[in-house]
Amino acid sequence: MKPRSFDYVRVKSLAEAVIALARHGTEAKIIAGGQSLVPLLNMRMASPAILVDINALAELRGISLEGGSLRIGALVRQAEAEGSVEIAKHAPLIAKALPYIGHFAIRNRGTIGGSIALADPAAELPACLLALGGEVEIEGAKGARTVKADDFFKDLYETALGPGDVLIAIRIPVPSKDMRFGFSELARRHGDFAMAGLAACRDGKSARLAFFGVGSTPLRAKKAEAALAKGSLEEAVAVLDHDLDPPDDIHSSGKVKLHLAKTLLRRIAPELAA
Ligand SMILES: Cc1cc2nc3c(=O)[nH]c(=O)nc-3n(C[C@H](O)[C@H](O)[C@H](O)COP(=O)(O)OP(=O)(O)OC[C@H]3O[C@@H](n4cnc5c(N)ncnc54)[C@H](O)[C@@H]3O)c2cc1C
Repeated sequence: MKPRSFDYVRVKSLAEAVIALARHGTEAKIIAGGQSLVPLLNMRMASPAILVDINALAELRGISLEGGSLRIGALVRQAEAEGSVEIAKHAPLIAKALPYIGHFAIRNRGTIGGSIALADPAAELPACLLALGGEVEIEGAKGARTVKADDFFKDLYETALGPGDVLIAIRIPVPSKDMRFGFSELARRHGDFAMAGLAACRDGKSARLAFFGVGSTPLRAKKAEAALAKGSLEEAVAVLDHDLDPPDDIHSSGKVKLHLAKTLLRRIAPELAA
């Protein structure tokens, strides 16, 4: 299929992007890597009147350490992130997750910001951001703001981004030395979106478990986190019945997904052990 016709503007500054988005409201869509948006256009599941191309915005690029956080620009390609020494060192959970995203050709164009902004419930990066207790930097018509990952993912493909907002960067707190990270997912074939997945981190005091593919957003499993922090894997697995209530989808029933979630928790537990 081919998309409906649309206008196109390649903006040269963030201010220009914000103005173009404000002018066209819900009729405008940002395009970054296009790896999700272009299929949606072709299938006519999205029909914006205008695409605002942000690929020329240098201020949305770059990976840097800033005040105890690793800042990853929205336009950093997933493939670039995969090769980043800073991410391997300061955000190893993201480094573990990146190779699971589609295939290299997709990661070569797909951006970190595009994945977080789209917030596919089965996507790896939103769950990593949530597990890491990260933040999202946003610029909009009313100025700049920062939203915690815990408050960013609202509902199915719904985030704290409003019409006219540009996701500028994500921030990940630099982990303590005793922080451990675990990542795993179950998909029919490597590169497919996950049927269920888990991004997790744990230090001596606490644990954060973010499941994906089991609800309308990435989900923290807070009862299991508390059990794991006390050192009881069996209790953590048992209380997942209370933390998660996965809906059926075309791949599997909710019951199967809950079983997969428990399997994933057992699978990554050795990675989280001190
Ligand atoms: C065959 C295939 C397999 C895939 N498999 C996976 C997978 O296993 N896991 C996975 O996570 N993803 C997968 N993807 C999606 C891929 O990771 C996309 O790159 C990503 O979801 C979107 O990034 P993008 O830069 O391409 O965004 P785009 O497609 O350009 O945009 C996606 C959405 O985000 C909005 N957006 C983009 N950037 C910004 C910004 N800076 N500020 C505000 N809004 C913005 C756009 O308006 C649009 O609504 C797959 C894609 C394909 C085609």
